[in-house]
Amino acid sequence: MRYCPKCKNLNDDTALRCSQCGSRRVRVVRPDDFILLVTATEYESEQIVKALEQAKIPCKKQPAGVDGIPSMYNSDALYSDQNVLVPYRVREEAEKIAQETQKRTAEQLEEMRKAQETPAEETTPASRRRQFFTSVVAVLLFIVLVACVVFASDWLAGILRDILYGACHPFAWWR
Ligand SMILES: [Zn+2]
Repeated sequence: MRYCPKCKNLNDDTALRCSQCGSRRVRVVRPDDFILLVTATEYESEQIVKALEQAKIPCKKQPAGVDGIPSMYNSDALYSDQNVLVPYRVREEAEKIAQETQKRTAEQLEEMRKAQETPAEETTPASRRRQFFTSVVAVLLFIVLVACVVFASDWLAGILRDILYGACHPFAWWR
C-alpha cells in the first residue's frame, strides 16, 4: 500500500498520485503512519474514539471540514464531521471496532427515534379529537370576537351619530 502524507489515505501499490487529493508525494506506508480510518459525525466519532481508547488503540480526531481531509468512505461529508485516524499497523482491528461502534450508534439513534415516535402514535385518536375540538372552539371564539367588534363599532357609531346629530339639531331628542 502507498500512503499519502497530505490526506492520510491509502493508495494502490502502483499509484504514483494520491487518488483522493492528487498529491505526488505518495510513498510506501510505514506501520506507524496515521491513516484515515473513518469520517463520521461529531457524536459517532466520539463513540469510535472512546471504543478505540478502550481497546488501547492510539487514535487522533480531526475536523473533516473546510481544511480537513477528504474521506474515501464518505465523499459528501458535512463540515462538522470528524476524521478518525489510527496507525497503519492496527488498522484491521480499528476498522472492526469502528464498524461495530457505528452499527451500535445507528441502532441507538434508531431506538431513540422510535421512543420519541411511540407516545405520539399511542395517543393519536384521542389527541386528534382534542385537537379538532380545540380548533372548533378557537374558530367559534374568533367568530364571536369579530361579531363583538362589529356590534361594538356599530353601537359606538350610533352614539357618535346621535351626539353629532343632536349638536346640529337642538330638537333631535324629540324623535
Ligand atoms: Zn492524498
